[in-house]
Amino acid sequence: MTWIVKKYLKTMKLTTNIRNQSWQKHLNESIKTYEDFVKLFGVEKLKKSAFSYILEENYRNVFNKLNSIFKFQATRYYLNLANLNDPLDPILLQILPQKYELDDPVFYENDPLKEEIHSPIPNLVHRYPDRVLWYLHHHCAVYCRFCMRKRKVSHADNFPFQKQKEKIIEYIQNHKNIKEVILSGGDPLTISDENLENILVNLKKIPHIFSIRIHSRIPVTLPHRITKNLCRIFKKFYPLTLVTHFNHPVELTPLVYKKIKMLRMNGVLVLNQSVFLKNINDNISTMENLLLKLIQFGIKPYYLHHCDEVKGTYHFRTKLQKGIELLKSLQGKNPGIMLPRFVVDLPEGGGKIPVQFDYFIKKTQNQIEFNNYKLEKYKIQDF
Ligand SMILES: *Cc1c(COP(=O)(O)O)cnc(C)c1O
Ligand code: SF4
Repeated sequence: MTWIVKKYLKTMKLTTNIRNQSWQKHLNESIKTYEDFVKLFGVEKLKKSAFSYILEENYRNVFNKLNSIFKFQATRYYLNLANLNDPLDPILLQILPQKYELDDPVFYENDPLKEEIHSPIPNLVHRYPDRVLWYLHHHCAVYCRFCMRKRKVSHADNFPFQKQKEKIIEYIQNHKNIKEVILSGGDPLTISDENLENILVNLKKIPHIFSIRIHSRIPVTLPHRITKNLCRIFKKFYPLTLVTHFNHPVELTPLVYKKIKMLRMNGVLVLNQSVFLKNINDNISTMENLLLKLIQFGIKPYYLHHCDEVKGTYHFRTKLQKGIELLKSLQGKNPGIMLPRFVVDLPEGGGKIPVQFDYFIKKTQNQIEFNNYKLEKYKIQDF
């Protein structure tokens, strides 16, 4: 290698580091304590707002108690989207600890989907025969109070990542029925470009892996993380799928638009999964607006999740029928590409199943009768 190339590489590394510093800085400056939260908005502003209860002693105790079970953390960028005058502000409702987290029905569990039982190696969930979910570490940019992995996400560190990495890759290499690897967590995009690239290099080498998928809420909570360097890496591993997690239209900002476009231009297929959350997005107009905007931003809605029976999340849960009715009301009246599948992840690790309104009416020997999306009757011949 000539010195010129070496010098070029050195400069590249340097600029990469500087660029990385900026999202790292956002992450380091995120709000993690009650005091910092109050300081960010200011006592006077909070007093006059719909969230004045935050200033009460009782609430501070609840906050600190819940913070010790599942941490509070939010980026300034994400908090900046909040509207303190709206008592049902969808940003704050997603991230503020609430006393209801201690009021679950008895059947709520820490791990209702039995992910730990379905992990042949710690932090690798192998529930379906053909795909595995790799829990990379505990960190996210923002901690969502409805998180289905509250039992481990946000927990203190000393995560044996390097040690587990080799074992996990070896497991995937040895199980030829695995077609897809899902990088998840905790948020996989909170690790460095170098570590991420190293994982992708190792997975790409495995001949039976058809698809690599990244599950990350970073595009919602810290879009600054989608840097040119990250996109350069993603492009090398074309075709990659990134499944992100927008729950409300206010989360779709001009910065998000720019970053999703960068991902798309670099060959990344961008999908979205939302959770159907009480008082946050469980009405038709909010959901319709979210789904339309996702399409406008270049993101294909993939799943809408019914809340899992996870301890500390009961206050977010809606009735199953509500989600079924929602999709029924959107069907036929909106572009088909914006409709997600409404899914339930069955307890005990039964896996995800789609649930929807049943358009079937009856079947005779040679005919089947259906409702159309307007609930008018139609027949098809079936012989
Ligand atoms: C959701 C999930 C997957 C992915 O399921 P898809 O239906 O392919 O999106 C894989 N493994 C586990 C453990 C999951 O929970
Ligand atoms: S970003 Fe995902 S993993 Fe992290 S707290 Fe939110 S829902 Fe849980």
